[in-house]
Amino acid sequence: MTQPLPIILETAVQDDKVMQDFESEPPQVGGDHSQMVKAPPTRGGYGSKDCVNLASSTAVSRIITIDSPQGSVLKKIAEPIKLQEFPLAKEIAQALFDSLKPYLPAAGLAAPQIGISKSIFIYSYDRNPDNLTVVINPSFVPIGEETIEEWEGCFSVLLSRNTWQIAKIPRYKKIRITYTTLEGETIDHVLEGFAAKVFQHEYDHLQGVENIYRKDATVKAFGNKDELEEFFKNIKKTDAEHYLKPTPYR
Ligand SMILES: [Zn+2]
Repeated sequence: MTQPLPIILETAVQDDKVMQDFESEPPQVGGDHSQMVKAPPTRGGYGSKDCVNLASSTAVSRIITIDSPQGSVLKKIAEPIKLQEFPLAKEIAQALFDSLKPYLPAAGLAAPQIGISKSIFIYSYDRNPDNLTVVINPSFVPIGEETIEEWEGCFSVLLSRNTWQIAKIPRYKKIRITYTTLEGETIDHVLEGFAAKVFQHEYDHLQGVENIYRKDATVKAFGNKDELEEFFKNIKKTDAEHYLKPTPYR
C-alpha cells in the first residue's frame, strides 16, 4: 500500500508561438519561489467562473508533452515526497493548479507533466474544478476484478504538436486508495467509476507510463484537432454517467 507517485486528461491545441514560449520557459519550483508561494488550495482552488474553453484558450501552456524537449520526464518513475519536503509539495501543488487552470474543467494533472518527477498529482472525481484534490505519494489496490474500459485523453498527448490520439485502457472499476494530503493527513478511500479511472491514469504518470504507450491500450488517432474535440465531447458525456464521490474505506 505504500508505493509512491502521481496525473491527467483533456484537450487543446497550441500554435508554434505558444509552444516556443512554453519550451523556453520550463516551470520553476524550488528555486525562485516568487511565483509559487501563494497559499495553495487543497481543494477548490479555482471555481467554475475561472473556466475557459479549451479550444479558445491562448494561455501559454506549461504542460510537458510527449514531443517536448523535456518529454523524457514523462518516462521516469517519480520520487516519493519525504516529510521534510512538504513545503516543496505545496509549491508543486500550486504549479499544478496554475498549469491546469487554462484547461478547466479537467480531470487532473501529475507533477511529471509539468516537468517535476515527484509523487504528487491533482485530480477531480467529476471534472469540477472545486473538487480538485491534491494527492501525495499515492498507492492503490483493486477491489474485485471488474474492469472498465473508457476513452482517456491525456494533456501530454493532446497538447502535442500533431499526435491527436486517445486511448482506451482496462482500468479497475473499484479501487482502494491511500495517499497523503498537503497537511500530512493519511487518506484511505474507495473510488469507483470515473474517479477510479482518473486516479489510475494519474498514478501511471508517476510510474513513467503514458496511456497511449501502454501495451493494453486501444489507441484511436484523429486527423485533426476538431475531430478529436468533437469525439471528446461524447467521452465527457459518458464519463458523467460514472461520477461518484470518494468514500471512506471501512
Ligand atoms: Zn495523462
